[in-house]
This record gives sequence, C-alpha cells and structure tokens, in this order.
Amino acid sequence: MTEDNYKQRGLRNKLVSKLRLKGITDEAVLSAIAKVPRHVFFEDALLSHAYEDKAFPIGEGQTISQPYTVAFQTEKLQIKPGNKVLEVGTGSGYQAAILLEMGATVYTIEFNRKLYEKTRDFLPMLGYRPYFFYGDGSKGIPIKAPFDKIIVTAGAPIIPQTLLNQLTEDGIMVIPVGNRDAQKMMRLIKKKEKVLKEEFNQFAFVPLLGAEGWNLSG
Ligand code: SAM
Repeated sequence: MTEDNYKQRGLRNKLVSKLRLKGITDEAVLSAIAKVPRHVFFEDALLSHAYEDKAFPIGEGQTISQPYTVAFQTEKLQIKPGNKVLEVGTGSGYQAAILLEMGATVYTIEFNRKLYEKTRDFLPMLGYRPYFFYGDGSKGIPIKAPFDKIIVTAGAPIIPQTLLNQLTEDGIMVIPVGNRDAQKMMRLIKKKEKVLKEEFNQFAFVPLLGAEGWNLSG
C-alpha cells in the first residue's frame, strides 16, 4: 500500500503535534516526519498502527523505531543539508528517508541480508535513494569515511572506537549505549584533541551485533 491520501497526511500532522508535546523542537525534523509516509513501511495487518508513537516489527526479529526515537536521534544529530551521514542499521529504511528529506547524503548499512535486500529494493520506489551497504556496520564503512554525522539505530554495549575514527573533526555521533534491555542515548562530538560526551534519556533498542557489538552466539 503506497497510496498517501489526506487521511494519512492528517494522521502524520497529529503525530507531529504529539512529538512537539514530547519536546521535539527542530522544525526540519518535524517537517520531515510530516512528509515521509510511515504507513508504507508497514505490513497490511499492522497498517492501522502506522502513526502511533510506537516501535513495530518489520520481520526478521527487527523493528521500525518509535517515531519519538527517530525524531530524538535526528534532532541530536543537528543535520544540515549536504551533511554526509552514516546510518548503522538500515532496517525498514524509514530513518534513512527522514535524513534524505532533510537534505543529507545517506550511507546506510544493514547486517541482516534479507532486510538489506528488501529495503534496497523498496526504498527507491518511494523516491528515497541512500547508498545501501550490506555488512557489519559496527565497523562503519571505512572506504566511504569520513562522515559528518553517524547515527546508530541498534543498542551498543560500548562506544565503537572504529566509528569514532570515521567521524570528521566536529562530527557528531548519536548512539544508544548500555545493556541488552536498556540503553542511554549518547551524543559524541569529535573535537581536534578530545571527544565531548553527552548522555540523554533511556531507550530500548534491538542489539547492535558484530565486531564492536554484541556477540549473541552461545
Ligand atoms: N533505522 C531502522 C529503521 O528506520 O527502520 C530501525 C533499525 S532496527 C531498530 C535495528 C537494525 O540494526 C536491525 O535491522 C538490525 O538488523 C540492524 N543491525 C544490528 N546490528 C548491526 C550491525 N552490526 N550492522 C548493521 N546493522 C545492524
């Protein structure tokens, strides 16, 4: 279902009002959320939930993040048009679509092959064209580095040093860090001689796998 009519646009405007009430103030983020048709990322059975402020399953045991979470992380990234952004955890492609609406150039990497293939084939049909990569995003994409911004959309046990190394000077990374059940959102700003760290609210993401993520075998 890729149709987008007045009803869905109305539901999106309501969602934007909810996000304002929850403290999101960046107008560029809110206007991207008002534009990207979230319902087209949902399977038919879950369609009626598309504009609730909740995370939902997208298959393969993975989720499309809650709109508040997408808005919070994107706001903290301070996206400017033309920014080169790495997204770790493509998932449904919804977050990538928001970043593209804001004028960023997006490199997105997914570790689950089926999801990678599904989103790589689907997202361009909506007119959203990030650069898609398949593999372990906890190691970033060295051949495409450096990035102005890095967003990690899965919960990490530690701050991956490899990702920090792939940020430009004054680059910003937003990443949830913690245990398997809950993570604190962190923002890291890379300065010449040091990295500034800020901690925000608690969130609950699916685990970041891979070399600098969780080892879930055994
Ligand atoms: N950003 C997504 C969206 O807009 O739908 C939501 C992402 S979902 C919460 C987390 C994703 O991270 C899952 O699709 C999962 O397969 C992926 N993932 C986990 N570990 C990864 C890794 N090391 N590299 C790349 N993707 C990873």
